[in-house]
Amino acid sequence: MNISIIGSGYVGLVSGACFAELGNHVICADNDIKKIAGLKKGIIPIYEPGLEELIAGNLKNKRLKFTSSIREAVKSSEIIFIAVGTPSLGNGEADLTGVENVARVIAQNMDGYRLIVEKSTVPVETCAWIKKTIATYIKKKHKFDVVSNPEFLREGSAISDFTHPDRIVVGAESQKAGQVMTQLYQPLNRPILITNIKSAELIKHASNAFLATKISFINALSRICDKVGADVKEVAQGMGLDARIGRHFLHAGIGYGGSCFPKDLDAFITIAGNLGYDFKMLKAVRDTNQEQKEFVLQKIKEALWIIKDKTIAVLGLAFKSNTDDLRNSPSIDLIKLLLQEGAKIRAYDPRAMEKAKNILNDVIFCKDPYQASQGADCLIIATEWNEFKELDFLKLKKILQRALIVDGRNIYDPKQLKKLGFTYVGIGHGRE
Ligand code: NAD
Repeated sequence: MNISIIGSGYVGLVSGACFAELGNHVICADNDIKKIAGLKKGIIPIYEPGLEELIAGNLKNKRLKFTSSIREAVKSSEIIFIAVGTPSLGNGEADLTGVENVARVIAQNMDGYRLIVEKSTVPVETCAWIKKTIATYIKKKHKFDVVSNPEFLREGSAISDFTHPDRIVVGAESQKAGQVMTQLYQPLNRPILITNIKSAELIKHASNAFLATKISFINALSRICDKVGADVKEVAQGMGLDARIGRHFLHAGIGYGGSCFPKDLDAFITIAGNLGYDFKMLKAVRDTNQEQKEFVLQKIKEALWIIKDKTIAVLGLAFKSNTDDLRNSPSIDLIKLLLQEGAKIRAYDPRAMEKAKNILNDVIFCKDPYQASQGADCLIIATEWNEFKELDFLKLKKILQRALIVDGRNIYDPKQLKKLGFTYVGIGHGRE
């Protein structure tokens, strides 16, 4: 099939490259001219495992193209995915300017039937607005369908998530649109759920809100564990073995972040509010997440007594491992809190350093975990990168000014670190 994807970010690039790999002809478009110029030369603007190779292969066999002309993308393909960003406006609402803009450009450049697929995460009823917008700006009375096809991929494992999803959700009004979407995704051989459009839109927000709830639940529980001397990892394991609960998203830590959960939760709370329902439960999920960062700061304070002028090594800047995405990263939030307290920060991340340099001042960026730990009074694990799981602790002990580890992701065995002579502070491991 001929497909255009408008918006070449994490979702657009991964979807575009994967659809090309499945044998389709794909045009990835973006209004960021610099980004597109780089992509044409094979420069990938994000770090996502396997993406560079996938794009290179499909550029070579000419199944994938990049353009900064949305007009060209609309004219060339019958199926047009909207995968632009939908960031938070700051008041909780999602900024849908990009979606509306793309809908108008599609309307003005359609020269025949088009299937418009809304892939960005959007509030319920956005597809109805896209439909109205296209109907308003369309030049000739060409037929079109709008479907909702929310994306569930996770950064860091985006390619395998896209190609092996638990389910593919398609909200469609017309049988034809549902059939085309089914045909498009058929090669993945995964369950396809066809729903009405509003249900599909809600499935995405509801899923993210539910996953965020699981994380805040286990983080809240970690507070109880700390107080009574229980181990939150054991509690999570015992809960997770219950098939009704499941073991995923029950890892206590410094809180969730990223470009999706915080903004999608805000948007969902706002949508509910606008519809006359005060979603108090989700407000509590959000508050718990915020408190968790302060809780970790408190733990650091308890261990160091005075933070001012202390040197703190922070390992991990990205909001999670295997990505360079810093959007709403709890690590960045924690660093900002520590800087406010007067700490000196030495930081290292395997992939996110370049992006971090643009948003963090007064931080010393180091080439590896050992350089970051040089003379530090405390070492904080803020992102669960695999390479941090295999550090040379004897070497670290010699380098650190003080053998104190605050494990914000619970990646270490407390007993082992204590045996090596470290003071270990984890999340939900009981009092030291
Ligand atoms: P992103 O910021 O990485 O990419 C968005 C791209 O859209 C950017 O390259 C931007 O230049 C482009 N863009 C914005 N306005 C445009 C316009 N008017 N015309 C053309 N291009 C435009 O965002 P992302 O992480 O890929 O997310 C895209 C959407 O998918 C969001 O709604 C997000 O919530 C959702 N989503 C993201 C993920 C994820 O893990 N990142 C997962 C599932 C869903």
